[in-house]
Amino acid sequence: MSITREEKTENFRKGLMDVSDLKIPTYCSKCGGVMVFKGVGEYKCEDCGNVEYDNYGKVRNYIEKNPGTTSAQVSMATGVSQKSIREMLRDQRIEIAPNSNAFLVCEICGANIRYGRYCSKCETAYHRDIEERARAGKHHKMTGFSTEINKGEAGAKRFNWDL
Ligand SMILES: [Zn+2]
Ligand SMILES: [Zn+2]
Repeated sequence: MSITREEKTENFRKGLMDVSDLKIPTYCSKCGGVMVFKGVGEYKCEDCGNVEYDNYGKVRNYIEKNPGTTSAQVSMATGVSQKSIREMLRDQRIEIAPNSNAFLVCEICGANIRYGRYCSKCETAYHRDIEERARAGKHHKMTGFSTEINKGEAGAKRFNWDL
């Protein structure tokens, strides 16, 4: 009894909805253009080039600039609740240490990945779908959030508080 790619994609979508306030920017706050996913929670307006971040992007940026920070500090600086930060890290974002033998597989296509639940291809496909819908009708509101894979060693675990 195998589950189809469509069903897996649907599960992916539902999984994304589970994390409450990722706040994917769908439309540009400056010109109303469609925001295109660039990776690591970053989106760029296809019309004016304005860059915006979802909550994961904000959290990740802060952690990169402030290594060794605490979840409370991240929460204060980004406005993202500690609960959401923990959800992001626990459910989707925990990365495998570079020297670990463990590995993960994408839940949709089975590719090996370093962290999260989905590979960059499946994740990108998800965002392209959102972008298509956004172009098709500017009334269509989608929510969810993003994962960025393929950061290699640079993406090594930076979240050093207890979850
Ligand atoms: Zn714009
Ligand atoms: Zn995949």
